[in-house]
Amino acid sequence: MSSRERGGPVPPAGGTGPEGAAASARGASGGAAAGEVAARGPGTGGAAARTFRAHAGVQAEPAPASPAAGAAAADPRAVPGEAGTAGAGGPGSSRSQTLELPFVAPALRQWLSSPKPLFIGGRWQEPRSGRYLTVTDPATGEPLAEVAEAGEEDVDLAVQAARRALEGSWGKLPPAERGRLLWKLADLVEENAQEFAQLESLNTGKPVTETTMADVPLAVEHFRYFAGWATKWTGETLPVSFPGEYLAYTRREPVGVVGAIVPWNFPLLIASWKLAPALAAGNTVVLKPSELTPLTALRLAELVRQAGFPPGTVNVLPGYGEPAGRALVEHPGVDKISFTGSPAVGRKIMTAAARDFKRVTLELGGKSPNIVFPDADLDSAVAGAMMGIFFNQGEVCCAGSRLFVHKEHFDRVVGAIAERAGRLRQGPGIDPMTQMGPLISRTHMERVLGYIERGRAEGAELLVGGEPNPEAGPGYFVKPTVFLGRDDMTIAREEIFGPVLTVLPFESLDEVVRRANDTPYGLAAGIWTRDVAKAIKVAHRLKAGTVWINGYNLLDATSPWGGFKQSGIGREMGRYALEHYTEVKSVWVNLG
Ligand code: NAD
Repeated sequence: MSSRERGGPVPPAGGTGPEGAAASARGASGGAAAGEVAARGPGTGGAAARTFRAHAGVQAEPAPASPAAGAAAADPRAVPGEAGTAGAGGPGSSRSQTLELPFVAPALRQWLSSPKPLFIGGRWQEPRSGRYLTVTDPATGEPLAEVAEAGEEDVDLAVQAARRALEGSWGKLPPAERGRLLWKLADLVEENAQEFAQLESLNTGKPVTETTMADVPLAVEHFRYFAGWATKWTGETLPVSFPGEYLAYTRREPVGVVGAIVPWNFPLLIASWKLAPALAAGNTVVLKPSELTPLTALRLAELVRQAGFPPGTVNVLPGYGEPAGRALVEHPGVDKISFTGSPAVGRKIMTAAARDFKRVTLELGGKSPNIVFPDADLDSAVAGAMMGIFFNQGEVCCAGSRLFVHKEHFDRVVGAIAERAGRLRQGPGIDPMTQMGPLISRTHMERVLGYIERGRAEGAELLVGGEPNPEAGPGYFVKPTVFLGRDDMTIAREEIFGPVLTVLPFESLDEVVRRANDTPYGLAAGIWTRDVAKAIKVAHRLKAGTVWINGYNLLDATSPWGGFKQSGIGREMGRYALEHYTEVKSVWVNLG
């Protein structure tokens, strides 16, 4: 346990960033509007950011003796701890010992030590709900940060702010200016990439090597890709046959106010999948991150403000599914919900949206097949299978959790996977040596362990793992687990969302295609073979939104993402995403 007491809010680390400076000036002049509290993030592009870059996430400077608490006491902009109803671990209680690791940059520690308000209408506001929630470090189970929790009134304020921006300053911006702002946001995230990578790793538990190589750069690319689309998403002229002479054409108009609801497994990346196309198409957004992982969304809000987006264009409201998520879905001022999460919640959202026919896109779960044919490059297939299931602790919607291996090489392939799984290094994600981090929460760990128990009870053969890993730390660690199972077992049918692989032998191509498709899900699939024609034929027969041939987990801003069947409705990424963020309008001009 950290010996450092929670000292309450602290001023910006270094205080050198343009946003921090602006906030100070306003606070000093007493000019902040009622209810607003100033943002207190690390100075972007300042000394703190340079420290992150210099140490490349490997070795940060030693933590300074803590002047923070004293400074905070003098900070008139501080959010008072009593403002919230933080429970155990609230302001004043001990914080996660992970924060004391030398890998954690001091500026990040400071940023985390102040409670985070809501971002509404371009300002930092205390929650009308009066509540704060405690964000937990999954590597220790200890408190990491305090974050305002949005209630129904907060959602209403944010939707109103988004509506004002839509009908006002943001709605009037030329497309090129929207693109410029998105590009600027990408630049700012990139300038602070090390910080985002560390923050995401601390909050989710995932290895910082993964957040550095995947989550953050992919989010940056996403903003850039859609920055380009702002000026390129066009309508068309129509060769109508109606008697007379007409000019008929289509235009693409924004849907309006978008409620974006994000899960905990890729918080920054999935937020970018929604924000970037929504903004490129001219919508405004109320973003609700998961109650478990709101931190990078809040940091992103600071950069949205710094980039110069008109107030209300993007609003960030951490909160629980109930009441905040539900209030957003049911709000009559929201025109579209873009949701990523579990099928159970997706179903509720679709039902609620039916009342006023809100537009809805859903990115849901999966039970993806990964198929190793006998003519595959087996070393690559083994590496691909490992990546398919153990990347991000298996907390991946497209995890290749059903591995079909041809009987010819079954023992060799499965033996290699079990051996490598047993050697994966587990620990806090923030440690650069960690290969697999903790699961997100105790509840989720117990759910995953429940599936493992079910696998055993139904007669699956446990090849490796199958239990918690207390040696990795006091948090929510489950060992990488491999079962030899059957298609009808629960572990081969339900989404576990953890590091649990079920290997299944097969004999023929038709057989494996049939079995691979025998699932209510249809998000992704993998194929391993050297026979190109076979690979393509199988790819066309698999019922999945994405098929990878001789690869796994390949994602790019240009490539559409979404599910067949119960894996969802609609597509994110690529130009296909823009379809869901615009309405098509036909305009007829009588030339007679
Ligand atoms: P979840 O459905 O529990 O929560 C997702 C989000 O919905 C959270 O922000 C939560 O607060 C909110 N929410 C909960 N109840 C709500 C309600 N009644 N109304 C409105 N919002 C509500 O999912 P999770 O546990 O955070 O994430 C895991 C699930 O997400 C898995 O099923 C996984 O497959 C899926 N997922 C899918 C994709 C994809 O691209 N298809 C990507 C990542 C995760």
